[in-house]
Amino acid sequence: RAKAMGKGEYQFYAAGMNARGQELLSLETDLRRALQREELVLYYQPQMDLGSGRIVAVEALLRWQHPEKGLVPPSDFIPILEESGLINVAGDWVLRRACADCARLIGQLGSVMRVAVNVSPRQFNDPGFVDSVRRVLGRQRIPAGCLELEITEEIVMQEVSMTGSTLSELDRLGVRLAVDDFGTGYSSMAYLKRFPLDALKIDRTFVEGLPGDQGNAAIVEASIYLGRKLGLEVIAEGVETAVQREFLQAHQCDLIQGYALGRPMPLPALIEFLRDISRH
Ligand code: C2E
Ligand code: MG
Ligand code: MG
Ligand code: MG
Repeated sequence: RAKAMGKGEYQFYAAGMNARGQELLSLETDLRRALQREELVLYYQPQMDLGSGRIVAVEALLRWQHPEKGLVPPSDFIPILEESGLINVAGDWVLRRACADCARLIGQLGSVMRVAVNVSPRQFNDPGFVDSVRRVLGRQRIPAGCLELEITEEIVMQEVSMTGSTLSELDRLGVRLAVDDFGTGYSSMAYLKRFPLDALKIDRTFVEGLPGDQGNAAIVEASIYLGRKLGLEVIAEGVETAVQREFLQAHQCDLIQGYALGRPMPLPALIEFLRDISRH
């Protein structure tokens, strides 16, 4: 791995690479610089509680404000952060930023707000992960329950003996644990009762085409039912239309997130958005 090599070897490695490899390497170099120059930014997307109609949470979504390329979406660079190991530094920054912003939101709005942060497998498996979460909570002084960590089925299904104890430690800290993109991984359902989870996020590919798409309607209905029976909060993502929202409401989904409510936005826009909503 390039990261572990000395400078000479690194160049030797680069010389033998194909165009795609060169491009990835230059992206990796750019990303290291981006971390130093604070070019990474968090956007926030609101989540609405369908029971109360209130925005009770936001999901933090990473963006890269590239000096030439403009706003780069996470799908273009998170795999490179993962691959290079930079995800641990970036992930730590995301946690700190998200909790600091959450503290600021709570202060400005005078009401509680939860922030959901995506955690990638390599970040989760870092032996220092739980400590970094503990540290961030201590420094930002937000209630632990205001932080939700979104983990993937890949994490809960991995053959790593530490997974269970890491999840238990996080649970003991009081942070919430949500399974992201529920139903899209290669996974069994056993993990749902084995681990101390708090929420399921139904993937947007299942929300698409509701209510007309009968297959998706069945999957979404069953997921909501399953979540409720297991005592988990159910969040539907990718809600774009009023009819999707009505369907989810009729089937007692707890929370929704999607363009129907609002797109991911920078913190100042989010504060405006939340103020606007509370006026109506
Ligand atoms: P995700 O966690 O499943 O996040 C939801 C994605 O769906 C976001 O894409 C969001 O912008 C998009 N989305 C939300 N509402 C709608 C909608 O109504 N319609 C459609 N078509 N899309 C909607 P985004 O921001 O591009 O992020 C993509 C993925 O990148 C995320 O999927 C997550 O897996 C990953 N990601 C983002 N930020 C972070 C981060 O800080 N750390 C890690 N490890 N992964 C991140
Ligand atoms: Mg997510
Ligand atoms: Mg998701
Ligand atoms: Mg998804």
